Parts: sequence; structure tokens; C-alpha cells
Amino acid sequence: MWSSLKAEPLGENRELNMIRGTRPFSLSAAARAVLGRGSWGGDGGTQQLTLWDVAEQIRKKECRRVVVMAGAGISTPSGIPDFRSPGSGLYSNLEQYDIPYPEAIFELMYFFANPKPFFTLAKELYPGNYRPNYAHYFLRLLHDKGLLLRLYTQNIDGLERVAGIPPDRLVEAHGTFATATCTVCRRKFPGEDFRGDVMADKVPHCPVCTGVIKPDIVFFGEELPQRFFLHMADFPMADLLFVIGTSLEVEPFASLAGAVRSSVPRVLINRDLVGPFAWQRRHNDVAQLGDVVSGVEKLVELLDWEEEMQTLMRKEKEKVGRG
Ligand SMILES: [Zn+2]
Repeated sequence: MWSSLKAEPLGENRELNMIRGTRPFSLSAAARAVLGRGSWGGDGGTQQLTLWDVAEQIRKKECRRVVVMAGAGISTPSGIPDFRSPGSGLYSNLEQYDIPYPEAIFELMYFFANPKPFFTLAKELYPGNYRPNYAHYFLRLLHDKGLLLRLYTQNIDGLERVAGIPPDRLVEAHGTFATATCTVCRRKFPGEDFRGDVMADKVPHCPVCTGVIKPDIVFFGEELPQRFFLHMADFPMADLLFVIGTSLEVEPFASLAGAVRSSVPRVLINRDLVGPFAWQRRHNDVAQLGDVVSGVEKLVELLDWEEEMQTLMRKEKEKVGRG
């Protein structure tokens, strides 16, 4: 059931979630004002958790197995267009290749007929063009403090790696440009081997069999990376879940938010209220809505990690300067 990356409606899972989840409950605005300390929601009289509470739990080391789910919203502050959305800058660039429809760029059938549009995207997203931002470095700091169990990302820009989060802490659910596979003999190569070709607008070929090389980005209908199955151990083990910058619209990624134990706080940092935070809220859910970087900054402030963030970002910037 995890084999397709095509966006699927959430209806089916909703039924499943209703069985194991909480009942919908609504409080009047007046009751919320009395009961809720936060600005957001209430839950049948149970104290609604706030971002401050979560920060306090992290500071007291009550949470030390943090699982993070991240999406395009953590990369747009780095200047990366949300390229799966029609109308974004990148798709306009692709018009010159006359692709029949935007999704064709991630379709194998189309790739084998005409790999050029995909490699135009690859050239744009190959490591080196974009820099991680505050949100990425917050996740790096979480790792440095030994608190990050795993980061599940939908992004294919590789900025989590650039920010210094080791690959073994990462599940790049939609694949990566860091590695590539020959479409004919299936040999694996480091993505770096083909940087020259990609930058020179050449379709890379296998040095062994001359087959076309495809970076390990997950196309529609392709299997998710094996690492994705780590979720079966990670989510039940998590003691805190962050959902940052994702609309939770693409399955199977979307359903993961419901896979943590019901006692585990879930924190959404996102422009809008999405997924189970909107329709299957738990009393220990927290939503920090609005600009993603501002939301992360707010959390860092509550954690009192501002200085460490500044130090980390300064060091990383120097590294880039030398590189
Ligand atoms: Zn080959």
C-alpha cells in the first residue's frame, strides 16, 4: 500500500483513524477562552498543550526521541520553488521543453522518451545551488543535541544533508540526488559523478553499459526508498513529533502523523492548519501557524537556544565561505 506516490484522498485513512483516534469535539469560543491557555483550540476540558509546554518538555529532557516530518515549506525560505505546484517558476522554465503536463517530469514513461526536462530540474536542484535556512539548522541542532531520532523529508533538494544532518538520521521519502542508478544495468553511483554532465545540460550515461543514469528521485509509481520502512519502528518509539512545512497531502507520507502514540505531543509548524491537526485533533496537538521560519524562531526562543543557533549558523556559513 506504500508503493505509489500519487496524491491520494485522505478519506480511506480517515476511517482508520476514527477507529483508533479521538472523537471530534468542539467547544464554544467562550469555553475556549476560559480553558485554553493557547490561542488555538480546546479538547473537552483537557488542558490544551502549548508550544511553551513542548519547549519545557524538551528542556527537561522529557522528550529525547524526536521524529520530524518536513515538506516544501522548509525549503521555500531557501528560494526553492514548490515545483510540484503548477504555476511555480520552475514549471515555467520547463515550458521550453514542451512537456505535455507538469507531472510528466516525474513519470518514467516520459523520462525514457525524453529525459531532458527532468535533468533541467536536476541541474536546478543539484547540491550547491541553494543554501539551508534557519529551519534546516534548527533540525541540525536537534541532532547535535542527540534529540533527533529521525527526519522524514518530502524534499529532494538535499538541504538536510547540506545542513549537516547525517544520512543515517534521514529518510528522504521522495529520493535524493546524492545517489544515482543506471536505468539499464542498475549499477549505483554517487550523484557527484554526474555533476559535470548535468551542469553541461548533458543527459548522463552509465560508464559501464552506456544506459541512461537516473538520480535516485522517486518517480510516480516507483517504490519508496527502503529506508522509508524505518517508520514502522520510529513512529511508535517517538516521544515528540514535529510536522514542519508540509500540507500532509501526499500519501503515504500524510498518514504517518497518526502513527505516533496518542500520548505523544504533535507540533505543527506550518502556514495553515492541515491533516489530522485540522480534522482529528488531539489534546496534545500544538499548531504554530503562519510563516514557517518565524514559527521555528519562536520555538528556538522558548527553548532558549538562540545563541547556539547563531553559533551554528555562523560556523556553517564560514564553512561555505571556505568551500
Ligand atoms: Zn549501466
